Amino acid sequence: MAQGSGIRSTVLTDTWDVIIVGGGIVGCSAAYYAAKSGLRVLLFERDTPGSGQSGRNLGFVRQQARDFRELPLAMGALKLWEGLERDLGRNVGWFQGGNIALAMTDAEREQHAAWQSEARPYGLDTVTLDASQIMAKLPHLAPGVGVKGAMFTASDGRAEPGRATRAFFDAALEHGAEVILGSRVSKLETAAGQVIGVWSGGRLFRAETVVCAAGANTAALVRPLGILLPQEIIRATVVKTEPLAEPFPYCLSCPMTGVRQSADGALVLSVAGGEYDIRWDSIRYARWYLKLRREQPESSRINYLSPFRKLLSRNAPPPLADIAPTSENVPPNSKRIQQALNEVGHFLPPFAGLGVRASWAGYIDTLPDLVPAIGASTKVSGLLIATGFSGHGFGLGPMVGKVLSQMMRAQPPCVDISQLSPDRFERAGRMTFSR
Ligand SMILES: Cc1cc2nc3c(=O)[nH]c(=O)nc-3n(C[C@H](O)[C@H](O)[C@H](O)COP(=O)(O)OP(=O)(O)OC[C@H]3O[C@@H](n4cnc5c(N)ncnc54)[C@H](O)[C@@H]3O)c2cc1C
Repeated sequence: MAQGSGIRSTVLTDTWDVIIVGGGIVGCSAAYYAAKSGLRVLLFERDTPGSGQSGRNLGFVRQQARDFRELPLAMGALKLWEGLERDLGRNVGWFQGGNIALAMTDAEREQHAAWQSEARPYGLDTVTLDASQIMAKLPHLAPGVGVKGAMFTASDGRAEPGRATRAFFDAALEHGAEVILGSRVSKLETAAGQVIGVWSGGRLFRAETVVCAAGANTAALVRPLGILLPQEIIRATVVKTEPLAEPFPYCLSCPMTGVRQSADGALVLSVAGGEYDIRWDSIRYARWYLKLRREQPESSRINYLSPFRKLLSRNAPPPLADIAPTSENVPPNSKRIQQALNEVGHFLPPFAGLGVRASWAGYIDTLPDLVPAIGASTKVSGLLIATGFSGHGFGLGPMVGKVLSQMMRAQPPCVDISQLSPDRFERAGRMTFSR
């Protein structure tokens, strides 16, 4: 393994079958499946594996309520998660306790029912819970909080984000993948419409296939190649409490807060949505998000102060967290931490007053239609893109890596990703695009 300045001494060749940009769960799982299939793989990560979203997320592995364009991917991923610890030979904190989403209004209950009836042909095990079933699963639920119903998917689960990403990374190394950590890819290089490699540290690294899985930086890397990905970032906050004295098996979605128990017994909470920290791309892609902002104003507000954050938080203590560090400044939002703790205390009174052990934030990379872009671009041959997971990519990650490894070998993907083409924004046209 090479680290930044040690590149020349440890990476012996200039040419690989595949170069992967980004050491998140998508890049690391792609590296694992590709190296395992015999391809010569080089992975670049500008910081450390899992330092982006993949080590910072909530850890839900959820098929329930997925958009139908990505449900086959989510269901395929779940099957991989079930056997992942055996396959990778490592503990990823996998626990299959099911996912519960509460409905607080009749309209939400109807939305749940509509989703379930559309999901039925896919064979997913989602069921509706009545009041007594809800209380049987959630005896801590406060009476009188207005829960109108719930849906439950027993096959959904949870895993430890940093551990799972690292497990893919280590297993990829075991299968012969080479990696360069602490080195940013500055450019994707092409010749005559074909990708030929990437630039990093002033050197060209060559490959016939390049996978761009650089999370929130993907749009900026592919833009010079004429590929349009109107990607935004949302700063989302996570809080980890002191350990509970008892097991809490479910991933639970309260109205605004996701709740799960971590492998060490603590509760991990995340409030839905976050801050759209303003940057140049927010202006560049603003029109793509007009509809979303109109429909969901509360969860899509722009934070105009973010450019001054470095200045404003000069003397602030670093966030408390046992996660891989990143070179970005991504502070948690203290209001959202309190909001999450309050909501959990309101719905699950026995969990009220738990002390906070850690908190952190991460940038969710999103696209305007809230499903990822995965696959080959028709603009540049040899380039595979996997990004825009819009808050769902941890659960999907293993299957995305597998599908990418199949595409590297010109094999058809084993699950349907036909509606997730990276070219769809180009085709839709700026003014006519809608979800
Ligand atoms: C707070 C939060 C909660 C979430 N909760 C869930 C959840 O419960 N369930 C779920 O399924 N998903 C969840 N997500 C989303 C999920 O974490 C992401 O969709 C997923 O991790 C995306 O993985 P990735 O590999 O595409 O991106 P990332 O993990 O962001 O990885 C991209 C990597 O590329 C590197 N990189 C970027 N640019 C360059 C460059 N130029 N050169 C080299 N390296 C580069 C970055 O350092 C980074 O490590 C959540 C996200 C957040 C932030």
